[in-house]
Amino acid sequence: IVEVKNLKKQYGENVILKNINLHINKGEVLSLIGPSGSGKSTILRCIVDLESITSGEILIEGNNLTDKNVDRKIKKEMLLKTGMVFQTFNLFPHMSVRNNIVRTLKLVKNMNTEKAESLAKEMLSLVGLSDKINNYPNELSGGQKQRVAIARALALQPDIMLFDEPTSALDPELVKEVLDIIRKLKSQKITMLIVSHEMKFVREISDRVIIMEEGEILETGTSKQIFENPSSQRVREFLNANK
Ligand code: ATP
Ligand code: MG
Repeated sequence: IVEVKNLKKQYGENVILKNINLHINKGEVLSLIGPSGSGKSTILRCIVDLESITSGEILIEGNNLTDKNVDRKIKKEMLLKTGMVFQTFNLFPHMSVRNNIVRTLKLVKNMNTEKAESLAKEMLSLVGLSDKINNYPNELSGGQKQRVAIARALALQPDIMLFDEPTSALDPELVKEVLDIIRKLKSQKITMLIVSHEMKFVREISDRVIIMEEGEILETGTSKQIFENPSSQRVREFLNANK
């Protein structure tokens, strides 16, 4: 679904991503882990076009979005196939939960009200928040806000969901409700790229794991390989320090 080839990213002189190659297959859960500042968020932001790249290629469904000559309509269509969930929820504070989803669908997908409403209800039910449809974001707990953000991203019916530390802004007792939603998405075979510091969760949920350090990939492998038999001392150290 997504392919990243020789991705390089610099801010001025500062090289943030050196030479990243990765791919995500349909139905797969891939996690990115690594120390703070290693470039995990930057990779996600480059994939969803929130960040420009210095060189390399990003392909979605085989379409090279970083080609200067890419058809703008195709690029927009492909970016709509990605749904991103941020650490800080990013809900519209002045809109009810319903309108956070309905207005987004109308704006982004030109969907009619009836269809948007019905999809909003369906997605809120999936995340267990049907009873909050008329509430405003400031009336919700952090975990509930994040579940609305997930419902909103899912309502756009992306082919891949990207999560950037979806639980790190949450109180510990609220983490589980968000992780449970992600578990549910996995059971529905939704393709996901997840950045998380919840190592136990990463180990459990991931088909494959990528470990980053200082803008480079240290190791890629199945969850079992990485957690049970990492090949390098650096990876072992990182995992031991983040148990
Ligand atoms: P964390 O686990 O703390 O979220 P991360 O792996 O997601 O870290 P990134 O946010 O991708 O790391 O940042 C990678 C590097 O890029 C960091 O050194 C950061 O300081 C730098 N960086 C990020 N955004 C910018 C920016 N807008 N301008 C300059 N440097 C930036
Ligand atoms: Mg980050």
